Amino acid sequence: MRAELLVQIRRRYRSGFEVAAAWHQSLDPATVTVLFGPSGSGKTTLLRCLAGLERPDDGRIVLGEEVWFDAATGRHLPPQRRRIGFLFQEYALFPHRTVAGNIAFGLAHLSRAERRRRVAELLALFELEELAERYPHELSGGQQQRVALARALAPHPRLLLLDEPLAALDGPTRDGLRRKLRRWLHTLNIPAVIVTHDWLEASTLGQQVIVLASGRVLQQGPVEEVFSRPASTRVADIVGVETVVPGEVLNIAGGLARVAVGSATLTAVAPSELNGRVYVCIRAEEVTLLPAPPEATSARNRLRARVVHVEPEGALVRVELDAGFPLVALVTRPSCDELQLAPGRSVWALIKAPAIHLVPR
Ligand code: ADP
Ligand code: MG
Repeated sequence: MRAELLVQIRRRYRSGFEVAAAWHQSLDPATVTVLFGPSGSGKTTLLRCLAGLERPDDGRIVLGEEVWFDAATGRHLPPQRRRIGFLFQEYALFPHRTVAGNIAFGLAHLSRAERRRRVAELLALFELEELAERYPHELSGGQQQRVALARALAPHPRLLLLDEPLAALDGPTRDGLRRKLRRWLHTLNIPAVIVTHDWLEASTLGQQVIVLASGRVLQQGPVEEVFSRPASTRVADIVGVETVVPGEVLNIAGGLARVAVGSATLTAVAPSELNGRVYVCIRAEEVTLLPAPPEATSARNRLRARVVHVEPEGALVRVELDAGFPLVALVTRPSCDELQLAPGRSVWALIKAPAIHLVPR
């Protein structure tokens, strides 16, 4: 038996909207598939089909040896028999239950002692011990989200479905929780399908990504491949990060990391708990091009680069560079003319340290 989740579904609404997608992912070791796309692209619909809350019009869903859905035989396993952990966009906790009570919700089948042990385990894992007796309205957004995750994971689900799990949180809380979520998924070895439209979330959490728009799969594959080599300008637009390259952290000092990438060395703001191997992510509009070496600038990264390819993209121009590693810049048409950008031309690329995002790999 292959420990795999196999998904091949098509769901059509009466309105005429149709979404179709197919993928498979390993359950052991557990992997994460990210459904990525703008609002209205069908991400939540796919997740609801996996949960059994929505019945596809066509296809199959198989987890390991268990058939959850098969249009050919009419089989449709109800949600409660799929043993999934589901976190909807609005992660409503039960307002009249404490944190511990919320986490214990799906554990009615356990004995009292077992239930208590499991709740304690999750309180510890999600750093909620101090908050166990509080009620949801006494918690911050980030704390509520941790409780919601703990509740979803308490009954040992075989698959975790998360719909924009961090979208409602503010920046710093989201940054912290994103990295923790990655660690929890890894520690617990729980396979997951995660919906997001945030590329940083996708690349931090996922192994494979499926880019959707208007119900269509535009591209799918390993995260770093899809994000660094979008198959079309539409995907590049949706994804919004054009440079994703493997790098190696050389050292971290004063909150800054020096990272070897190709033949270049970059300076980036270092997130905590970073080890050696990373993906270096840079959005094309964060790259400034100059004809000559800059005199004085606050940008930590000044790279000599050679233009490889120039391609108009609406009002802008996409410039592919060799900066010791493949780097993409986005400039306006007048800038492109002023700089006389053409293959072979030598330029300087400036990137500020905070514009370089490091994602563990
Ligand atoms: P996303 O999660 O990517 O924002 P959704 O899956 O929620 O997208 O919605 C995709 C499309 O399907 C939207 O146009 C939405 O209006 C429509 N839709 C969602 N749920 C239903 C439903 N129950 N009945 C009819 N149309 C729906
Ligand atoms: Mg949605």
